[in-house]
Amino acid sequence: MKLGFYPVLGKSDFVRSKGKKIPIWQLLEYQPVGWLYSLAIKAEIVPDSPIVHDCGSFNYRDQDIPTLNGKYVDAYWSIHRYRERSKVGDIIVCPDHLLVGENIRERQEYNLKQAETFIQLAKSYLPNRIPLAVIHGQSLSERLEVAKYLLGLGYRHLGIGGLVSQAREYSINLHIIKTITQVVRSPKAGVSPSLIDSERVLPKAGAMPTAGVAIAPLHEPNAHLHVFGLCSPQYAKAFIQMGLSFDGSTFIREGLGGGMFVSHEEKLIRIPTHCAPKCNCHVCRVLNRHRIDPRLTNKGRTHTMGRIAHNLNLVISTYRKFTPKEKIYLVAGCGKQLTYPAAAKDLYYSQHFQACRRYVEEQESRWYILSPLHQVINPEAIIKPYDKSPYSLSHQERILWAQQVAESLIQVASPEIEFVFLTGKLYRQEVTSILQANGYATKVPMQHLAIGQQLAWIKKELEQEKQLVLDI
Ligand SMILES: [Zn+2]
Repeated sequence: MKLGFYPVLGKSDFVRSKGKKIPIWQLLEYQPVGWLYSLAIKAEIVPDSPIVHDCGSFNYRDQDIPTLNGKYVDAYWSIHRYRERSKVGDIIVCPDHLLVGENIRERQEYNLKQAETFIQLAKSYLPNRIPLAVIHGQSLSERLEVAKYLLGLGYRHLGIGGLVSQAREYSINLHIIKTITQVVRSPKAGVSPSLIDSERVLPKAGAMPTAGVAIAPLHEPNAHLHVFGLCSPQYAKAFIQMGLSFDGSTFIREGLGGGMFVSHEEKLIRIPTHCAPKCNCHVCRVLNRHRIDPRLTNKGRTHTMGRIAHNLNLVISTYRKFTPKEKIYLVAGCGKQLTYPAAAKDLYYSQHFQACRRYVEEQESRWYILSPLHQVINPEAIIKPYDKSPYSLSHQERILWAQQVAESLIQVASPEIEFVFLTGKLYRQEVTSILQANGYATKVPMQHLAIGQQLAWIKKELEQEKQLVLDI
């Protein structure tokens, strides 16, 4: 299951133009990783993206016996519905019941019982779908017990639910989510006293309602966690950093209520449409060509859907700011060379070059070698030894060289790429300014370090990475 944001699918996610239905996903500048589709609705159109199918527990939260459209919701019923709706690779969520109202204990029992049946049914009837069960609990320790139980049943995809009603309690929610994630993923993170202490943040600490829960090991480094219903930029930033997926429908709710999002740095501000500035985002430009104005209220649903698409577009663009940029590393081809033709990554065999090579290979990102003779070299390319140093270039030759290098780099890099230079000043100074002028981010992590310090920096970074791998 992909990490990132899954917007909630609506009943009729399209705008109508000249008799045609244009799905809102066709209007977006960037696509979300997938969508969340609830059994509580029947959508007129569904995208061809990965979909999280859930049972829409929010819709029956006030019923002690959960029903949707008059049908009792349980593992059997939901498996039938998912069989009709889902495709290979989709995520199917075990029916769950929010822990609200009088009968909390019965609701939790229902959740655990459905989880047990659902994974068996999923294995038998929908083996190409991914079953996910939701962790509910009234306290952190109860949630951890439930997580342990679900892992023991064989779930490797877990949802964290029931936090929407306390969405404003950002630090409490984040603490709960972080702790569950750590405990589930890391073998070292047992339930330590600090975790028990953390229960104080929740007023109602309840005991696990079901006796005889199977005790299974509580760590599964590859477990995937999904947070249901929390999606403000503040939450999104934390979830993206923690490697979680999450969903939300705020863009729909605000759009229906006449609110237009305006983005301000890492925030999204809701402005009533009548005072919202004219927007020039990708969606609004396309809508404009179809004579659809997202700022119109009470003029039909197409304008409202246009506003919803605009909101979603800004949500996704804002979240993109939190996603680490893909990097391309650049290393200077300098120092001692072999005396015979070889792959460029082997030709330069100085300690400094080979240390840089080891470092960039560990990053698992693309990298290139900069050379005064060849400009930009693919590390795998076979080249002959040569004798040309950047010091031998005149000022004008160097400017020309930098332009050629920058042009070659731009050809192989999408605009979101960040270039990381592990080179001396001569190999980068004019190049970075041309790249920046073309909108690329550049970084020089060893900028003020002498050669010996650079080697020490690389060694330290490599050791830290090794440590991280061991920790996982
Ligand atoms: Zn817009």
